[in-house]
Amino acid sequence: MLQPESALQEKCLSRIEHELNSIRVFRSSGGKTLGYLCRGFPPSLAAGLGFRPVRVLQEASVEMEDLGGKLARQDICPLIKAFLGGIDSGRGLFGLIDVWMGLATCDQTRRCFSAIADMEDVTVHHVQLPATRSQSAGKYFSDQLQQFCLDCRDLYGFEYSAERALGYSMSLWITGEILRTATLSAQISPLDLHWLFHLFLIADPDGLAEILLGLLEKAEPFSPDCMIAIAGGPLALEDTWVLQAVQSKNAGVIPLHCTGLQMFPFGDLNGIPVTGTIEELAGRAFGDIRCARSRPNTEIFQYINDSISDTSCDGLILKTLKFCDLWFTERERFRSSMNVPVLVLDTSYGRGDAERQRNRVDAFLETLAL
Ligand code: SF4
Repeated sequence: MLQPESALQEKCLSRIEHELNSIRVFRSSGGKTLGYLCRGFPPSLAAGLGFRPVRVLQEASVEMEDLGGKLARQDICPLIKAFLGGIDSGRGLFGLIDVWMGLATCDQTRRCFSAIADMEDVTVHHVQLPATRSQSAGKYFSDQLQQFCLDCRDLYGFEYSAERALGYSMSLWITGEILRTATLSAQISPLDLHWLFHLFLIADPDGLAEILLGLLEKAEPFSPDCMIAIAGGPLALEDTWVLQAVQSKNAGVIPLHCTGLQMFPFGDLNGIPVTGTIEELAGRAFGDIRCARSRPNTEIFQYINDSISDTSCDGLILKTLKFCDLWFTERERFRSSMNVPVLVLDTSYGRGDAERQRNRVDAFLETLAL
């Protein structure tokens, strides 16, 4: 796992270890964890079923990428390879997942979840997340999640509770608001913020608000000379070199990728479910996605441009992962439609790659006169 470099990061690491222990206790008393990868899946729905949901974005390394590369075609993205490697090795958080939500969002996730389904002792529930933004596509997504709940009842004896899902949604919303406010304050360093977001991904949100507030209160003051937005696919915990490069120039970050602000519903109480039904949670999750894979995706470009203006960012880094078609194919449109300079990085977890790309980030920041 990534090593902490500040007092706040050390506290996040110790809290993450605490969460891992609480997952072990939960499982030893008969509870089941559900692991998922894409922000499109509503974790409250899993909580409503009685699972402990965890978004698993850890152990991203060349070692895991190489291991996963043996289980799938070479031309799939480093995140998916590292994910496969993590499952095969059972390392860290991967060894604590009982059931996987196999949300198919592209060819690579489809391949990944079918490879996982072939592994021994690994359970995957396959759900297709439609790219088309239409009512019928939303209904199709909702129907699949309804079916998933029925399958969980038959397989594990889990009965869906809307009340439990609502409680979880409320805690998620409160903690999300704390993180959003901290991000927009621009007073938290990029790496500290990254650790806080990753704590959010795996923690039980019940009671997390108080912990986050305590951590933020003791965060080292950060006063950036400028702000850079980062958009693109998910950033795994270990995927920090872009943040390090930006932070070393005393720039702050507004994370607009799907492990950043894009995870939260739009910022008012309208973002909280009111009935907690499967249909409602599915509809909100489907409607809130701000991923480039959406068709049409004009709103996503608008969201990123508006967020850049609202937060007075000086530039945008579009960080994609090699072989990821979702964001990289949109690079020219990003370059031409954003109101600030754009740097496109097509990345992997290789050390040499990080060093080469880091020079590009430095040069980009220099052009912004940092
Ligand atoms: S980039 Fe899009 S498809 Fe991939 S994990 Fe993020 S939201 Fe899901």
